[in-house]
Amino acid sequence: MKKPFTSLIAALAALLLILQAGCGARTATPAPEAPAKLKVVVSVYPVYEFARQVGGDKLDLALLVPPGAEPHDWEPSAKEIIAIKTAKLFLHHGAGLENLAKILTPETLGATQAVAVSSGIPALDLDAAEDADHKHGGHADKGHAHTDAHMWLDPLNAQKEVDAVAAALAAADPPNADYYRQNAANYNSKLAALDQEYKTALAGLPRRDIVTSHAAFGYLAARYGLRQLPIMGLAPDSEPTPEKMAAIVRFCREHNVKYIFFETIVSPRLAETIARETGAGLLVLNPFESLTADEIKQGKDYLSVMRDNLANLKKALRQ
Ligand SMILES: [Zn+2]
Repeated sequence: MKKPFTSLIAALAALLLILQAGCGARTATPAPEAPAKLKVVVSVYPVYEFARQVGGDKLDLALLVPPGAEPHDWEPSAKEIIAIKTAKLFLHHGAGLENLAKILTPETLGATQAVAVSSGIPALDLDAAEDADHKHGGHADKGHAHTDAHMWLDPLNAQKEVDAVAAALAAADPPNADYYRQNAANYNSKLAALDQEYKTALAGLPRRDIVTSHAAFGYLAARYGLRQLPIMGLAPDSEPTPEKMAAIVRFCREHNVKYIFFETIVSPRLAETIARETGAGLLVLNPFESLTADEIKQGKDYLSVMRDNLANLKKALRQ
């Protein structure tokens, strides 16, 4: 007596399964697409590099300061301000490197989270670090001009910036937090190896003085016991006075400086003048503030640029 009833239930259950499967199939069709990537806008190349290393394939990443451009005097366009507003996260370097007056406002940011990756690193005061004879010209218009913003050029500071990037990405995208932290740990072990290479290579060299294009290498010099003599100030648009040029030339002669360093994205004119005056050679010391389109094409990145820099430092500082 029960049989027809149970078979009716079985039939209904089967029908229900088919319907569910049908529904499931319909909603499943658009689902195979990749999950939406985290939209991140970054200001400058060092932050772009660390975000790329940590974010891997999980980010929709946009860089604002274009290849070959100097970040110190860059200003965002209206289009770039819209890109920032529509991102989940805006990562910038901070410490006065970029001019962020137009960006760090409630109007531009909207709901976008802004994070300065350098915020955990104590800043060097250039005036304290610099030889009293070679104070740079004033940059009152740039606000933080007396604080050295080039933290990433010390590989151990770079590790802190990598950690800051990972923390910001993890907070903005919790499901991938472990992925970001793992990538950061992997990259930081490469930075630790780079630090060891610098320590080993520079420890035994007799010379300590580096004459640089602008005052970008204060943290690197402090880490490895070098002394930086910058031709220009913290930003490369600050022309030295004739007195300062003469003082640098005098210093190079007195200390028998063999090479003057210049940068790939700044005119080498002043470095060439000093080299000509003193008979010194010229070598690149790249502050990795921006890469040229050519350097990007060659696949240059932070680690390779820092190893190129080390090779040139070894050349300049040996007997
Ligand atoms: Zn700089």
